[in-house]
Amino acid sequence: MSGIKLRPHHLLCVGYFEGKGYSDSFSRSMEQIKELTLQNPGITLQCCADEVCRACPNRVGNACRTQEKVMRYDREVLRLLEIEEEGCSDWKSLRNLTEEKILNCGKRRQICGDCAWDEICRKNEDGTIHENTLQDSRE
Ligand code: SF4
Repeated sequence: MSGIKLRPHHLLCVGYFEGKGYSDSFSRSMEQIKELTLQNPGITLQCCADEVCRACPNRVGNACRTQEKVMRYDREVLRLLEIEEEGCSDWKSLRNLTEEKILNCGKRRQICGDCAWDEICRKNEDGTIHENTLQDSRE
């Protein structure tokens, strides 16, 4: 099992990713990371540029163009999951914990409701993307 490094708030972003991103190469990279999660890789949580940031046009060295905002997201995810930075586990365990402690109790928006991609996550939460996907596949 290969391990990857993830910013804590990317537990949310990767889980809800559905093809749209900051650039084509970013979206391709996210597709690959999402596929990798199917193999349940080991994850180390770290609050700096990670596997997702690698292909992002907003990455500035080991940080982000919106560093203050993403650090706020990261800290809030760690707090709600009750995990320390550099905590390690596997993808499924962390994603299950994220669902239990954040998504299923409606706390995602308090973390990253001001994100530019919030609408996609809202649709995922409402289940409308799934319905749209089904509808598209029938056309
Ligand atoms: S916006 Fe910032 S935190 Fe998000 S993927 Fe890009 S560099 Fe990483």
